[in-house]
Formats: sequence, structure tokens, C-alpha cells
Amino acid sequence: MTSKSAASPSSASPSGVLPPMDRAGRLDRARRAFDEHGVDAALITTPVNVRWLTGFTGSNGRLLIDADGAVLYTDGRYTEQSASELAAGGVDGLVTVHDAAPDGQRHMAERVGNATVGFEAGNVSVADHGQLTESLEDATLEPLGPVIAELRQIKDVGERARLERAAAIADTALASRLEALVPGVTERAFQLDLDRAMLDLGADALSFETIVASGPNSALPHARPSNRPFEDGDLVVIDFGAGVDGYGSDMTRTFCIGEPSERQLDLYDAVHQAQAAGKSAVRDGVDERSIHETCAGVLDERGYGDAFIHGTGHGIGLEIHEQPILSPRSVGILRAGLIVTVEPGAYLTGFGGVRVEDSVVVTASGCEPITHAPKGLVPAGV
Ligand code: ZN
Ligand code: ZN
Repeated sequence: MTSKSAASPSSASPSGVLPPMDRAGRLDRARRAFDEHGVDAALITTPVNVRWLTGFTGSNGRLLIDADGAVLYTDGRYTEQSASELAAGGVDGLVTVHDAAPDGQRHMAERVGNATVGFEAGNVSVADHGQLTESLEDATLEPLGPVIAELRQIKDVGERARLERAAAIADTALASRLEALVPGVTERAFQLDLDRAMLDLGADALSFETIVASGPNSALPHARPSNRPFEDGDLVVIDFGAGVDGYGSDMTRTFCIGEPSERQLDLYDAVHQAQAAGKSAVRDGVDERSIHETCAGVLDERGYGDAFIHGTGHGIGLEIHEQPILSPRSVGILRAGLIVTVEPGAYLTGFGGVRVEDSVVVTASGCEPITHAPKGLVPAGV
């Protein structure tokens, strides 16, 4: 596969107004899902899910959703913040705010009465569950699986635009730092400059701690940047992303400092081919597991099967690792509207490693990448 240069559709340009979030639509989808699970109401306690549904970003927020509306329980520290974030989130009027203390539990108990109330079993501690059982004594509590995380898999227009914006910032930031891929520059210095470039271009955060792994460190998939200077002949794995309005992009490129050796070229080509094959296999309706099997198959054929030591990809969004996870254990089906990474790698201890990662939108007939930085062991245009 040949590399593509940065495309710049309007939503992906590093400036301009982003489309609004459809949070009313999300609340409706959540209600329908709770209905299917046989509960009258649900208490959402996972912060990222509260944010997705309301726009509220505070650390103390519990969201009760029922047929009549929704109530966000928070505390006095967040009175102003919750009002402004709910207004900005487009749910002002759809979600009311109630103080969590001192009478929040009583308010909730009166509101739910003897209804069946779902709770996020993966996020409620045994102690919290005991307290909930006590305070909602007339209600029936029903454990729910990751209902909201499943809804969050399909990205709406506003979410896709934010991820495209973040990915475009990362593309541009990397292009601006390629000349620093020379002997003597440390992993740490490269990382700090790349991070700074993303923030200067309008990122409001980093997706995660940027990985810059050179030489033997490149054989460690999640190496942290060190003070090791790049040396001639190093492979350098750079895995990074920008954050826009809570949404984080994710991309990996691998380069060589100076002229690559035959062995490095072969390793890179094998991973690149595996990644291209994995992307070609992405389409609405296919098994998630098959994407991993496609990549693993190519690396196997090329003699690097044992060097591929992680899953092939994951969803991205408000969290850097969201459902679905594309691995040998995946059991789901890819659906249009998902945004997932395809990131096979091969790691040879003592020699170095290669990973190539794009984030792509799943469509009915294939996929559309949102990461566009050129690929190749030798940085293009430097
Ligand atoms: Zn990554
Ligand atoms: Zn990733």
C-alpha cells in the first residue's frame, strides 16, 4: 500500500467550528437499551459514560435516567460547572441537577419508588452497592453489563468530527518534527517537541503518554521515552495522539535513523503488509476476530508470527481503549460507524520492533482512515 498525504476535509482541518454533539439522541438510545434490559430506570456512575450522555466532566456525578427525564447528582464544587457543561452539552432542560448531599439519596429514592433500577455492575463497589440497596429500599436493583460502553462504540457525527480533528493535528505535528529524527536527539526530547507541536496546533490534551522507543527499546510495545539518544541505524516507534474535546486520536509510525538494513526493511515490509491486509479486511458485518487473524496470517507467512505479541486494534473515543477490542478472543461483529485502530507489530528482542497503526472508520464497503501521515521507514520529504 502506498502512503497517502494528509487530506483536509473541513471537519478534519485543525481549526473551524465543530458540529454539536447529539446528546439528546444518546439519552434516547440509552432509554431504549434500558427498556430492552427490562429496567424502568438506570443509575450511571462511570464518569466517562456520564460525560458521554451529558457533557459533565466533574469527578462526582451520578446520572439517574428514567422515563420522565434524567437527574445529575453532584456536589457543591460543581454547581457552576455542571450548569455550564449541561448547557454547552445541549441537555439543559433534559437533565436537571440535584445536590448529592445531604438529601440526594432521599431525592433519588423518592423519584424511583419501587421501580426496577439498573446499575453499572462493572463500576459499583460492594460498599456502594450496599449503600444503594439501603437508600433505595423500595426499588429492585438490577446489575447491568457495559450497556453504555456498547452504545458508545458507534460514533455520531460530532464524535467523528472531533476524532478527525485530533488525528489531523497529530498528522501535522508529526510532519513538523520529522527533521528531528537524527542521531543525538533523545527519545524524551523528541516526545516533548511532538507533544508541544500537538498542543500548539490546537489539541487541548494528549490522548495518552506519547511513546517514542528507539533502537532496542523499539522491541518493547509500550516503552516510555527515555534519555537515550537516537543512533544511526535505530528503528524508532512513535505512537501518539492528540485530544480534542475529550476525544483522543491514535496513530503509530516507525522510522529508521539513517539507512535501513535489509533485515529492518524486511521486518518493516512484513508489518506494513500485515497492516494493509488488516485494513482491507475491515468492513461492516465481518468478525472482529478476523481482522486480527488477517494480520497475524501475513506475519506468520513472513516468519514473524511469534514476534506479534499483542492484539490488532481497539475502538477509540472518549477513552483511548474502547470496545471493540480486535484480538484472537474477540467475538463481536464490526459495524459501520465504529472507529477502530489497526496496529499490528513485530518485536525482536535486542534488535528492535516495528508497529504501524491507523485509525479507521468502518463503512458498509470497507473503511476510511482518519490518520493520514505518510508511511515508510525513511521519513518522506526530509
Ligand atoms: Zn497507538
Ligand atoms: Zn492503539
